Amino acid sequence: MTRAKIAIAGFQHETNTFNPNLTPVSEFERADGWPAATRGQDILEVFPGLNIGIGGFIQEGQDFDLRPILWCAAEPAGHVCRDAFDTYCGEICAGLKQHAPLDGVLLDLHGAMVTEDHFDGELEILRRVRAVVGDIPVVVALDFHANISPAFVALCDAIAIYREYPHLDMAQTGVRAARLMRQRLILGHPFSRAFLQVPFLIPLSDQATGQEPFAHIFSGFDDLPVPGLISADAASGFPAADIPNCGPSVLAYCTKEPAAQQAADILLGRFLEAEQQLTKSLLSERQAIQKGVELLQTSARPVVLADVQDNPGAGGTSDTTGLLQALIELDLAPAVMGIFADLACIQKAWSAGVGDHFDHVVGQNTQIPGLTRKTATFEVVRLCDVPILCTGEMYKGIAVDIGRTALLKIVGPSNAIFVVVSEQRFQCLDCALLEHFGLDLSDARLIVVKSTAHFRADFDPIAQATLLVASPGLHPCRLDQVSYENLREQVSLIKASPGRDVFAQT
Ligand SMILES: [Zn+2]
Repeated sequence: MTRAKIAIAGFQHETNTFNPNLTPVSEFERADGWPAATRGQDILEVFPGLNIGIGGFIQEGQDFDLRPILWCAAEPAGHVCRDAFDTYCGEICAGLKQHAPLDGVLLDLHGAMVTEDHFDGELEILRRVRAVVGDIPVVVALDFHANISPAFVALCDAIAIYREYPHLDMAQTGVRAARLMRQRLILGHPFSRAFLQVPFLIPLSDQATGQEPFAHIFSGFDDLPVPGLISADAASGFPAADIPNCGPSVLAYCTKEPAAQQAADILLGRFLEAEQQLTKSLLSERQAIQKGVELLQTSARPVVLADVQDNPGAGGTSDTTGLLQALIELDLAPAVMGIFADLACIQKAWSAGVGDHFDHVVGQNTQIPGLTRKTATFEVVRLCDVPILCTGEMYKGIAVDIGRTALLKIVGPSNAIFVVVSEQRFQCLDCALLEHFGLDLSDARLIVVKSTAHFRADFDPIAQATLLVASPGLHPCRLDQVSYENLREQVSLIKASPGRDVFAQT
């Protein structure tokens, strides 16, 4: 029996439409936390063993005749440039033509791409792919934060979505997608499907699947009590995107249509039931530091403060100063903070050298309301110019290339505030990103991470508590303060429960 000839490709971007910095080709071509743009047979060498969707395609697709075309991704930021979008869609379509006739296509996409021309980047990718391959099975792996449209679902034969945030199951999602491809090929005709959109948006700070209510919402998808279930999934949406199809959604594939609808109804019901629980406390910078210091009086284990609105993994600039300013002003406890993306600071640190001091204005790259620039004197503690090897479950084995980096100490009364600075933006989601500089985080007191939830996989086990901080940044988590213009009419925003000031709680 001949093996099914399956093309595999990936093109990923999570677009924060509130970030004014466009995402050009160069951002996709360079390596960061993920590999640089990779083409052809190199894909079969680079991705096996990595926690990335296309790695799962390769792992599960050993009985397919795999035809790798292109995989690329860029750090979340503003709209994808027209040129970048057309370039990578063009490469994928050219590859599909080259390998024709194909039996199927597996795509590793994100689901929240917005381009200069398209609110729904993935829908346009699928349109162009369909124009080349016609009616053959196309199965897609998507990120947990996908903003999925009905038109996109209609163009796919099946979709598999990450089920964990932190995303520990990216490769596993690729495995599930490859299995859906196999089932679809055996069946010989499309699955019955159902797709529903949740009528409200949920900030990423409420979406961690290790905490309720998301732990319940995202559990037991394979065991839903419906006959003939093939697959059921949910996406929690990416609310930093002012587009019509922003928001969570659920979908199901079954052998019979009523069952698919039944499964989707169950998952939608979980979101609707959870709505009133989706108002976790977000603290101010001062509240969080004071609460952290209070906790440190009863336990020596570190307290993690998450700078949730300056998460570069969600399009933040990773250089906002709100928490740093408060740490310096209060100076209540030893602290380590990471990762600041500040090229000028790195250049000064490398010019100064280890042991020397320099003055620098932090936060000069952003114009975000509510932020002020901060001038500080830094002492250079350590310098590094090699990629940092991650050790946590999510990025284990990946050498993160964020350019030159430095561990700096703020020169002040306590001399106990440390900052890790890099040339490139990257979310502080792995303890190795800080410990690489010789720090022992189990001895730390306050640890400040520019991350919203991914840090939890590696930092929660060492922390006595995690506090979420709403310091000004480009990744909005207080959605009632966002001026959306393009949402569809049926969508509302999660707000504080009546009579409850969630932001004032400590
Ligand atoms: Zn995500």
